[in-house]
Amino acid sequence: MKKGSASTVVYRSDYSPYAWQLKHVDLRFDISPHPTRVSSELSMKRQPGTASGSDIELDGQHMELLSIMMDGRELKPEQFSKDADKLIIHDAPDDCTLNIEVLIKPHENTALEGMYPSGDFLLTQCESQGFRKITYFPDRPDVMTRFDVTLCADRQKYPVLLSNGNAVDAGESDNGRHWVRWQDPYAKPCYLFALVAGDLACLEDHFITRSGRDVTLRVFVEQENIDRCDHAMQSLIHAMKWDQDRFDLEYDLDIYNIVATNDFNMGAMENKSLNIFNSKYVLARPDTATDTDYQGIEGVIGHEYFHNWTGNRVTCQDWFQLTLKEGLTVFRDQEFSSDMQSRAVKRIRDVRDLRNRQFPEDAGPMSHPIRPDKYIEINNFYTMTVYQKGATIIRMYHTLLGEAGFQKGMKLYFERHDGQAVSCDDFLAAMADANGVNLEQFGRWYGQSGTPEVTAQCEYDAAGASFILHLSQHTPATHDQVEKQTLVIPFAVGLLSASGEEYPLQLEGEGSTSVTSRVLLLKEKRQSFTFINIPQRPVPSLLRDFSAPVKLNYSYSGDDLAVLMAHDSDAFQRWEAAQLLAQREILGNQKLHATGSEMELSQHLIDAFRALLEDRDTDPALLAEAMMLPGEDYLADQMDVVDVEGIHAARSFVKSTLAGALRSLIRSRYDELNDGAPYDKSSASMARRSLKNICLSYLLETDGGARLAEVQLDTSDNMTDTLAALCGLVWTDAASAAAASQAFGQEWKDDPLVMDKWFTIQAVKPGADTVKTVRALMKHPAFSITNPNKVRSLIGAFAMSNPTGFHARDGAGYQFHADQVISLDELNPQVAARMVAAFNQWTRYDPARRSKMKAELERISAADGLSPDVSEIVHNALGMEKTK
Ligand SMILES: [Zn+2]
Repeated sequence: MKKGSASTVVYRSDYSPYAWQLKHVDLRFDISPHPTRVSSELSMKRQPGTASGSDIELDGQHMELLSIMMDGRELKPEQFSKDADKLIIHDAPDDCTLNIEVLIKPHENTALEGMYPSGDFLLTQCESQGFRKITYFPDRPDVMTRFDVTLCADRQKYPVLLSNGNAVDAGESDNGRHWVRWQDPYAKPCYLFALVAGDLACLEDHFITRSGRDVTLRVFVEQENIDRCDHAMQSLIHAMKWDQDRFDLEYDLDIYNIVATNDFNMGAMENKSLNIFNSKYVLARPDTATDTDYQGIEGVIGHEYFHNWTGNRVTCQDWFQLTLKEGLTVFRDQEFSSDMQSRAVKRIRDVRDLRNRQFPEDAGPMSHPIRPDKYIEINNFYTMTVYQKGATIIRMYHTLLGEAGFQKGMKLYFERHDGQAVSCDDFLAAMADANGVNLEQFGRWYGQSGTPEVTAQCEYDAAGASFILHLSQHTPATHDQVEKQTLVIPFAVGLLSASGEEYPLQLEGEGSTSVTSRVLLLKEKRQSFTFINIPQRPVPSLLRDFSAPVKLNYSYSGDDLAVLMAHDSDAFQRWEAAQLLAQREILGNQKLHATGSEMELSQHLIDAFRALLEDRDTDPALLAEAMMLPGEDYLADQMDVVDVEGIHAARSFVKSTLAGALRSLIRSRYDELNDGAPYDKSSASMARRSLKNICLSYLLETDGGARLAEVQLDTSDNMTDTLAALCGLVWTDAASAAAASQAFGQEWKDDPLVMDKWFTIQAVKPGADTVKTVRALMKHPAFSITNPNKVRSLIGAFAMSNPTGFHARDGAGYQFHADQVISLDELNPQVAARMVAAFNQWTRYDPARRSKMKAELERISAADGLSPDVSEIVHNALGMEKTK
């Protein structure tokens, strides 16, 4: 289903408030498989003080208008006008009631935006602009109103009828139909509206809030999945309690419903009291879900719940402010997961994600500030930048103001804006006013795109026992923005002695202190900080805990990295030092490979890994993170022209050489962790499994590794161990791989979420031949191009996570991918736009690959009736050439 509208650019500076107040809306849905009839009653009142002109403008797409009445009288054709996107009612009185009836066809909706089917049930997705596919309405987040919704449908086919708020009435109608009436006491924008109709099973529990409200919690799923909801329910209860304890925020209704669907464009949606989730973030059983899935469920359930305050009670004035709710809520879910699991491991994973996926976005054709200034298709701006970089900006407020100051700011934000649609400036003002600080320069982070670079230089004066840290900042020009301003960068540091003690950090002119970690504020282009009473040349620990989303230029010596890895009190820095050592080693070998020289591994890295394997004190999950070599994409990002094969060869060489050199140590660590204890989902057990499976991945590089994986596969009682063993066999081309993979595919053929994993394992197997496997798998009965999870797990995984496959020299990967983007765009432009982004980095490759990717982008660009979603990205990508 294509969008009808032409591409127009929307500018943030064009914002003006809606001229009408929507006092109340009544909606009635007569649900049937074919057209569904939607009747609405809108009570409108002109906003005092708005510009003259008495037209009421409503958004609407893809629907049939049956009738329209104003104050009880049918409108004559000359009283309104209508095109593919809008309905305009002329000469409306200052106070009026509109009654509109439309027909919509959910069963023809493959874009999964608006109302659509999933299996045998029906549901809606409205953020950001899906409500305009349901009925004519002012579809903008700053129009907030109270919804009164009646759903009427066949009782047998749709026994469960859900919408937002409280179910206040229900009854029977003719012909076996029944109805339920829902009222939401809170005013909300229409993007938070939801309905669900179907035959669903539910798990029920309760949560008593701090003030004594008894909230009924329900998780609705298709009947066969009812035994996979416990973890989601527990996560919800933990999230509700955590938000009370940490943020002093309590739930505000008597019902909280979650519905899981297999057909969803995103992860989940925070509709008021009726969250709709991609089943990937609800369903879990030890034999079907990995530890990563369990952690993902906890994080996403938390995220959507936290939106009840940061998003729903206080929402966005316009979609340019998306990071107001998303950056803040991602920060809150990161903190939730950190408090529930290991803080250091969570931080490492978030930073890795930011560097691997957001930094390239900042340097690519779709670069934009966390608050963009313009867009063609807002769906293209649900990005890593708005979400993840947005969350790091919130984290910097927290770093600058401390927990107490940050919470003071949050309190003032809610005092001022509860029930309103506001902007990022309002959030900043609340933080500044609550703490009596000036955050004007800090506010530049909202408007500036690109990844800043901080360069550090050190000077040690032995006679004066002083250490000077020179810092300078520079943000490179980006595709969307050439001029850059100087930012406020919180830069956390520590200083270690050669034997690993941390020095107190006393700056020149200050009294003595016992503080060994502190945050310097880099506000100028260049600043120097002089630390005194430093008796020996220290090893600096820079940008601790990744205190700002920047690239750090500083060349640590190998010895410095060894000190940091062994002793830094900041666990993140220990991991970072290990990654830097490994990265150097791999990129050094890539150079050797490029010149045809023999590759070699330094003793430094072997010693560092030996220390990790011998470490019995550190959290095994942290050790596992440290043993995970930097990914090929991240390594590619460190090069001017990406050497696809060289990076793969060098990384494989480093991994297998480490495995060979440390084989017996790795084996004994593996055996020790592989103790046959039955599965449990505690963090401690998850941590042990992660280290065990990293060890297995190294052992698979050595003789006998395949045998270990086969035994693990046979004896596993959980999906984490099963999948690790199967991946290992498939990716290393073990003799047993084909049979093992086939058996797995057969065993789980009716389980969509497990089959997603099976598709991904095969799609990311390194090598130029994988494109053939992927083509063949598209014909597998469990694959469906209309299902976004399937598209992501097969086509997306291949294009985004398999560099040697996607970038095969002959261009077969590119051609395959472009074909898929073109066919997907016919069905689901949002998902097609996500997929086409795989070409965004095309100018960073060698001339042969560049011209092949460019040809595919041009072919997509020339496709008939391309959606604005895909067209915006392709147009920007092709525009990259000019800036190179
Ligand atoms: Zn969100």
